[in-house]
Amino acid sequence: MKLGIVGSGFVGSTAAYSMVLRGIASEIVLIDINFKLAQAQAEDILHATPFSTPSRVIAGDYSDLVGAKVIVLACGVGQKPGESRHHLLARNYQVFEQVIPKVLKFAPEAILLAASNPVDVINQIVAKISKLPSERVIGSGTMLDTARFRALLADHVAVSPQSVHAMVLGEHGDSEVLVWSSASVGGMPLLKFASERGGIITQDIKEKIDDGVRKAAYRIIEGKTASYYGIGAGLARIAKAIRDDERAVLTLSAMTNGIPEFEGVSISLPRVVGKSGIVDTLNPDLSPEEKSDLIKSANVIRQAAGELGF
Ligand code: ADP
Repeated sequence: MKLGIVGSGFVGSTAAYSMVLRGIASEIVLIDINFKLAQAQAEDILHATPFSTPSRVIAGDYSDLVGAKVIVLACGVGQKPGESRHHLLARNYQVFEQVIPKVLKFAPEAILLAASNPVDVINQIVAKISKLPSERVIGSGTMLDTARFRALLADHVAVSPQSVHAMVLGEHGDSEVLVWSSASVGGMPLLKFASERGGIITQDIKEKIDDGVRKAAYRIIEGKTASYYGIGAGLARIAKAIRDDERAVLTLSAMTNGIPEFEGVSISLPRVVGKSGIVDTLNPDLSPEEKSDLIKSANVIRQAAGELGF
């Protein structure tokens, strides 16, 4: 599979590196407004191929995207000191207004995978500018938060994270919703599993895990300026689900139709991902509190998009 990445900064380059390590794409095209950066990243990542998989990694222009099945959008401008979120978003809107038509000119059939933050509003921007069907406009959403939640629960109950099923839904941000009510371990409800094995989940532990998921990005950015390994690996995971037509259920952001509470908003829900993108959306069973928190979270995204005038 050929794949393009627009934005070769921390997130774009780490996604490319993860994909090379896992052999997700036979060809990866890195694009950046700063061509020297794209070139340097491509050269550096290419040197990992003898130790991993034989992917062809090149820096290119938009015309090199011809034939790409997936385009990762990791471009954007950073927040200036003192700049409001609204102003930052308005500047990033302009970036996507430049980028999307060029991507679609050369890769009109591609699935767009947005990773720039705030990802839910960015994904709405991509959907609006591209006018593509919502199945082909995917935001990385709470995929990473779900991974963090599963990893922390797994650590607490001493079971592989692959055997822990739990989700984070809603906004990729402060209002996200950790779904405790349906979390399970090896088919058993999480709370039952934990109490039977001596790892009872007290309110204190719940709060610690919640903080570990919700505040992770703040801590990482404070310690190392940016967060990219988790999201890079997550983007590779999504690309693989598309390439292999896996129909994997992943918590991803997309414009939602058919669920009245989330109509017209790009929010993370469990989405079935296959070769044409998002092939189905699940409306999961939630506790009344989780449901009301998820509706609030959708409204946070709606408000941020509304401030931009759409
Ligand atoms: P992140 O941590 O989200 O990856 P970075 O700032 O490291 O953030 O990466 C964003 C990248 O997007 C930068 O390398 C920047 O040059 C690139 N970029 C910004 N504007 C554009 C644009 N209009 N077209 C292509 N790339 C862009």
